[in-house]
Amino acid sequence: MNHVELLIIGSGPIGLCCGIAAQEEGISYKILEKGCLVNSIYNFPEEMTFFSSANNLEIGNLPFNTLSRRPTKQEALEYYRRVVEHFNLKIGLYETFMSVQYANDTLKNKFQVITSKELYSCNFIINATGFYDTPVLINVSGEELPKVKHYYSSAHHLFRQKVAVIGASNSAIDVALEVARKGAEISLIIRGKAISDTVKYWIRPDVENRIAEGKITVYYEADIVEITNHQVVFKQKNKTISIENDFVYAMTGYQPNTKLLDKLQVKIDSSTKAPHHNPITMESNTPGIYLAGVVCVGKNTQELFIENTREHGTQIISHIKQQL
Ligand SMILES: Cc1cc2nc3c(=O)[nH]c(=O)nc-3n(C[C@H](O)[C@H](O)[C@H](O)COP(=O)(O)OP(=O)(O)OC[C@H]3O[C@@H](n4cnc5c(N)ncnc54)[C@H](O)[C@@H]3O)c2cc1C
Repeated sequence: MNHVELLIIGSGPIGLCCGIAAQEEGISYKILEKGCLVNSIYNFPEEMTFFSSANNLEIGNLPFNTLSRRPTKQEALEYYRRVVEHFNLKIGLYETFMSVQYANDTLKNKFQVITSKELYSCNFIINATGFYDTPVLINVSGEELPKVKHYYSSAHHLFRQKVAVIGASNSAIDVALEVARKGAEISLIIRGKAISDTVKYWIRPDVENRIAEGKITVYYEADIVEITNHQVVFKQKNKTISIENDFVYAMTGYQPNTKLLDKLQVKIDSSTKAPHHNPITMESNTPGIYLAGVVCVGKNTQELFIENTREHGTQIISHIKQQL
């Protein structure tokens, strides 16, 4: 069995921040990552640019220089690879956290962790698994069809196809605009009365103008009833409407992995849906188990990002240090 003081689950930007902070304090650690390095960012849309300027995505005080103010996905991937090389961070890539057993109450191999590759003992665990792995489902029949996607990568294969985009927030609007520009016929299906207030201010005029000129057909107050091989069916003001359709992008948001939080015995607040934690130490209700990064968010996933969670690593490590 391998022993480290601290296991960090997730090699997103904030998992990396935790690794850097542990290393700087001489605490032995390993970062576990079920996919490739910064796996969530790797799965973001190919042509996305970050809304944050590069300096706000920097970690470990390593400069992030880009050509334009807002970095592209490729620039971010390159930057985080460089961070790992620079600090020589200890990461097990393609190594999934599976389960944990509570061995004893003292700081003597308190936890035993099973991953897809190894067995570890450790005294502290940080859950930095974000929320991008768990889409919020619409829960209608047909959602499981191969033409229905909860992630968007690129648009070429959608040329001259009838594409329905479901959702009203940034990710839905970004997809609708990009796919419309690449020659698809777009229906934007929105449950509420309007596009979300959270849509970025520099994107809003673009989508409003594309709707006005008929490049995007929008249906407000529309509740999806079912998705079939060739149709999307929804209710709008007591009328049932069925539109022809080849592909569906259900951009209805993402949420922290509650099964993983259960395994770590972390409670979830019933109203905010946020996992219990002390905002100063970032320790959860289970002593020795910490939360870092956007996994801390509840229902309102727009509230936390890389920019405003980069300090979690130093907060956690200073609390761990006091216990050693
Ligand atoms: C399209 C898009 C654009 C964004 N733009 C910005 C922006 O401009 N600025 C900004 O600050 N934020 C932005 N965000 C938000 C931010 O990028 C992400 O939320 C960020 O990746 C969060 O970092 P994190 O380290 O908390 O989690 P993540 O980056 O999601 O990392 C979690 C990691 O945990 C791994 N993992 C999950 N389960 C396991 C397991 N069982 N075992 C091992 N590993 C596991 C995942 O594979 C993943 O690599 C954007 C988000 C999206 C979707």
